[in-house]
Amino acid sequence: MLKIDAHTHILPKKMPNWSEKFGYGDFIYLQHHKMGYAKMMRGNQFFREIKDNCWDPDVRIEEYKQYHTQVQVVCTIPVMFSYWAQPLNCLDISKFLNDHIAKLVDKYPKQYIGLGTLPMHDTELAVKELARIKKIGLRGVQIGSNINDENLNEERFFPIFEACQNLNLAVMVHPWNMMGEKNMQRYWLPWLVGMPAETSRAMCSMIFGGIFERLPDLRVMFAHAGGSFLPTIGRIEHGFNCRPDLVAIDNNENPRKYLGKFWVDCITHDPLMLEYVLKLQGSKRVVLGSDYPFPLGDLEIGKFIDDMNLTESVKEDIFCNATLEWLQLSKEDYIIE
Ligand SMILES: [Zn+2]
Repeated sequence: MLKIDAHTHILPKKMPNWSEKFGYGDFIYLQHHKMGYAKMMRGNQFFREIKDNCWDPDVRIEEYKQYHTQVQVVCTIPVMFSYWAQPLNCLDISKFLNDHIAKLVDKYPKQYIGLGTLPMHDTELAVKELARIKKIGLRGVQIGSNINDENLNEERFFPIFEACQNLNLAVMVHPWNMMGEKNMQRYWLPWLVGMPAETSRAMCSMIFGGIFERLPDLRVMFAHAGGSFLPTIGRIEHGFNCRPDLVAIDNNENPRKYLGKFWVDCITHDPLMLEYVLKLQGSKRVVLGSDYPFPLGDLEIGKFIDDMNLTESVKEDIFCNATLEWLQLSKEDYIIE
């Protein structure tokens, strides 16, 4: 069975020192301090250590073999978004990363599918880069759950979503810049509590902001099984019903209506929760995802799904059909003779 991992991250092995180039800011750069490892530095601060599976396409393909997964959808690491930088500088970084992924996909068309990144805080530049992203063969973009603390329903982002729909490019929303991060450093809470909340924030903003009403053909996938959105859909719907004066001010449609219209990945680390997600979304709207190569990801690439008591057709939907539909690709293109 063809397996496509729709949520993985990659970096180029070598990146310019943007802090030096632009003369300001704590941009990310890599220090290759020992064989097979690099330190991700944020300015002069150590951010995290990464291994060669973060940049080496052949190492990745090899590691994926043991989980019988042939195809990886790759996008950058959210810390690279750089929405805080001057827009033209952010565009520079985005182009560098997008070109890197486009080259990778060119070289390994049956193993890699690419998503780009955008200077989301400058609508005009973002729309321009979208057209280029389309041209260089990427299938969509990954964006943050908020853009410098602005929610995705803000009118300034609408032309970007509209361009995605018009260009037939998919969108992946990934949590980052977590709310409350500064106040909950202990116990890794930004990742354990902040990230699921961020994704729900993005979903609620897009739904209540009427984005899906105005752009019915926009194809969006939300990371980490939609974070806390699906587990709290009852509360969100009840809020819509009991306080329409607060909630239904821009879109009069019940939020439950959108279940199964957008995609989510399967990264729950919990078969019972995945069953619930499947019930709400339907198997055609749940993609295999891993968050590879990071430790909080499902680094067995959906092995827990193989072990679940699901029909072959449901598994096939999760393992490839849902992603193929989200990215508008055909299975034949990934068959290796
Ligand atoms: Zn991720």
